[in-house]
Amino acid sequence: MTKVALVTGASRGIGRATALLLARQGYAVGVNYLRDESAARQVVTEIEAQGGKALALQADVADEAQVMAMFGALDAGLGTLSALVNNAGILFQQANIEQLTAERINQVLSTNVTGYFLCCREAVKRMALRHGGQGGAIVNVSSAASRLGAAGEYVDYAASKGAVDTLTIGLSREVAAQGIRVNGVRPGFIYTEMHASGGEPGRVDRVKDSLPMQRGGHPQEVAEAIAWLLSDAASYVTGTFIEAAGGR
Ligand code: NAD
Repeated sequence: MTKVALVTGASRGIGRATALLLARQGYAVGVNYLRDESAARQVVTEIEAQGGKALALQADVADEAQVMAMFGALDAGLGTLSALVNNAGILFQQANIEQLTAERINQVLSTNVTGYFLCCREAVKRMALRHGGQGGAIVNVSSAASRLGAAGEYVDYAASKGAVDTLTIGLSREVAAQGIRVNGVRPGFIYTEMHASGGEPGRVDRVKDSLPMQRGGHPQEVAEAIAWLLSDAASYVTGTFIEAAGGR
């Protein structure tokens, strides 16, 4: 039976690399996107060209009704979910605490935290019902910032990722008996558009020499860690994290 995965924020960056890798590994993949429909369709086309199966699914992960509709469309289009990658996230420009508005804080928390909760909830409902107690696996994309705090830069973002870590640990214990594993990946500085569209363009190149491996990471290198945690090779691994941060 084909395994079905949903990757949120999969039109670009780490989500895109993960969707393509999971498709190569034989998953049918739900490619969630927020606004960039053409980029999401391009990911689907690329998967189909390799003989795989995929579906572009628009939804704002912070919106409960949209998340429920997305999971409904996934059920109908690809079948019962066995793997979820919570990846959609936002980062705003560098700011210190005095510059943080309630609007910004709430926006970061609603996407990076509420969005992860809602998708976990819908995924667990489905994985708990899979035949023969097969369950499923969830990977939450956190950040090295969850433990480092990002002082003077993005404490709102770092706090949201701290919540992702705690959600991951708590949920892993809650659903373990149902055969569902929940783990996290903490990327370090990865070459994606997130830095240009939210944080600081060129940031990875600016900091790379100070990193232990003296280079930024590539989306594929994070995707590999995510795919391993989802795979049967990680069947006794739950409630834990892989640092994909080049030793940071
Ligand atoms: P990215 O900006 O390239 O991709 C994020 C994707 O999420 C985009 O496609 C965006 O449209 C989507 N998205 C944002 N809000 C959404 C919403 N409400 N609903 C649905 N989709 C939404 O960034 P990326 O670097 O690929 O980030 C992926 C994940 O990795 C994020 O959770 C991010 O916090 C995490 N991360 C990235 C880095 C890095 O250096 N790039 C480091 C640590 C953690």
